[in-house]
Amino acid sequence: MTTENQTPDANIKDAELDSPDRRKFFKRAAVGGTAALATGLGAYGAGRASIDGAIDENWPDLADDFKPFDQRNSMWAYAFSPGLALKHPERNEQFGRLVKNDPKHNWAVRVPFFETQPFDNTKPGFTQLDAALTHSSWYPPATQELRLSALGQPDTQFSRWDQSDVEHEQYQFASKKEASDAIRSAARLYGAVRCGIAKRDKRWDYDPIYKVSMTGEQLKGLQDSLKPLYKGKSREEYNEIVPMVQQEMIAGMPELMKQLDFKEEILSWEKDFPFEPKSVIVLAVPMDYDNSACAPSLTSGATVGDGYTKMATLSAAIAKFIRGLGYHAVASGNCLGSSVAYGVAAGMGEVGRNNQLLVPGYGPRVRLCKVYTDFDFVEYDQPRNWGITEFCKACKKCGEACPSEAIDMADDTHYYFEGEHSDQPGYSWSNHEGVKKFHTDAKKCITYWFDSDTDCTNCAAACTFNEPDFWHHWFIMAINPFMPKAIHGAMAELHPAFGYGGQTGTPKPHKLKKFWKSGEGMRINPTNRNVFGAVGKA
Ligand code: SF4
Ligand code: SF4
Repeated sequence: MTTENQTPDANIKDAELDSPDRRKFFKRAAVGGTAALATGLGAYGAGRASIDGAIDENWPDLADDFKPFDQRNSMWAYAFSPGLALKHPERNEQFGRLVKNDPKHNWAVRVPFFETQPFDNTKPGFTQLDAALTHSSWYPPATQELRLSALGQPDTQFSRWDQSDVEHEQYQFASKKEASDAIRSAARLYGAVRCGIAKRDKRWDYDPIYKVSMTGEQLKGLQDSLKPLYKGKSREEYNEIVPMVQQEMIAGMPELMKQLDFKEEILSWEKDFPFEPKSVIVLAVPMDYDNSACAPSLTSGATVGDGYTKMATLSAAIAKFIRGLGYHAVASGNCLGSSVAYGVAAGMGEVGRNNQLLVPGYGPRVRLCKVYTDFDFVEYDQPRNWGITEFCKACKKCGEACPSEAIDMADDTHYYFEGEHSDQPGYSWSNHEGVKKFHTDAKKCITYWFDSDTDCTNCAAACTFNEPDFWHHWFIMAINPFMPKAIHGAMAELHPAFGYGGQTGTPKPHKLKKFWKSGEGMRINPTNRNVFGAVGKA
């Protein structure tokens, strides 16, 4: 059939379309195209959903005897406190006997000497260049108070409990969403790469809170008074002098405590904390990929110090922002409660074998800080599952890279510490037991830090989830929950083959070299290479 307005060509097309075979062909093509589109959209949706993670209603899995963690049992609190060393000499004695073969072992006298060993220009990762970098990383926000905060001390310079600047008028948000969007926007502005908001949960708060009443100035004074003993000495001289000084300090500890007017405070949430928190905002700051790849060294210690510096300024700024809105808020680094547990509660990641929060896109290459506030967000983020802890059951890369054998190598998660010496009464005092997870031996970890004079971080650098921000890593993240255990094992084995991870007891020279070249081209940096440690991120 033709009409006046149709061209002969159109007539041909019509004729062809009228053919039953042609009609079938176009129909099939349309059906096939729609199916392909639907499959593509479905795959995109599934990928997107798996990147978002699925709500995890089974977390946490707790034993009947689970209790909130007494901060006096945290490794850093014990290591930092001469008072606790005197109260619990059996802890030092047991570790010295079982692990160090050193009857005089005492963590408390090692803290003031941490990261004071002389640089060694013949040792890659420990040269003057590396030492200057790591020391500078802690420097900007008042070195000593920052160190106190890193040791888990509450109410320090950047995390003051003082609430005298709370604005008298309370800002009213139009909706719950507007409130959480505002907090997350401020967090992003101040350098967070992730921000989750959890309902305050007393199970994850330290109870009681423990404070070693040493100010930053006192700690600095102590370190300064010790410095002339080793300053300008060679490594050999340092290694001869310092252990002798430490033995004298152990003998004179009660006197030293008096001289320093050293007190301890056991603080209660009800009586001492300035308000009743309703919410905990969890913030993640990034660590640099190329720098952390230099672990364990003074070089890689710089991204740790830098992380703490950012944690301090970020959490302090968010707390101040909330107080400016008329609500109470206290910033928190390692103090007040478990940042990892709150990070899971806030839907930011899962707990790995290395006991760190593994965040999609970063793995453990973040540092966490928090803000406790009485602002009630009403709607909170939920724990989520990406199949990460499940992946850890087939992967032991962090444990293989740990120079102190501190990491749990069990095949499955469990409620209590089961590592070496777990049969010795009281050995697991530093573990938060009763939570189903992998349990690290923090005593071995911290001792390696003191011995190596570094923050180590091998277990974060070697993690299979610690990868640069490339699209194909997100793709693998998206398909991870659907992969069986055997594939997880293969993925973990393949990871070092692509040049990732593989940390050992000494830093890799090619990774050191790569880091010290990573600033090349920074004047223009057209692809934003290395911005926030995300290599290749445009
Ligand atoms: S920081 Fe180092 S010593 Fe500590 S658990 Fe990790 S790898 Fe082991
Ligand atoms: S290295 Fe493997 S086992 Fe360890 S935390 Fe990372 S993914 Fe888990």
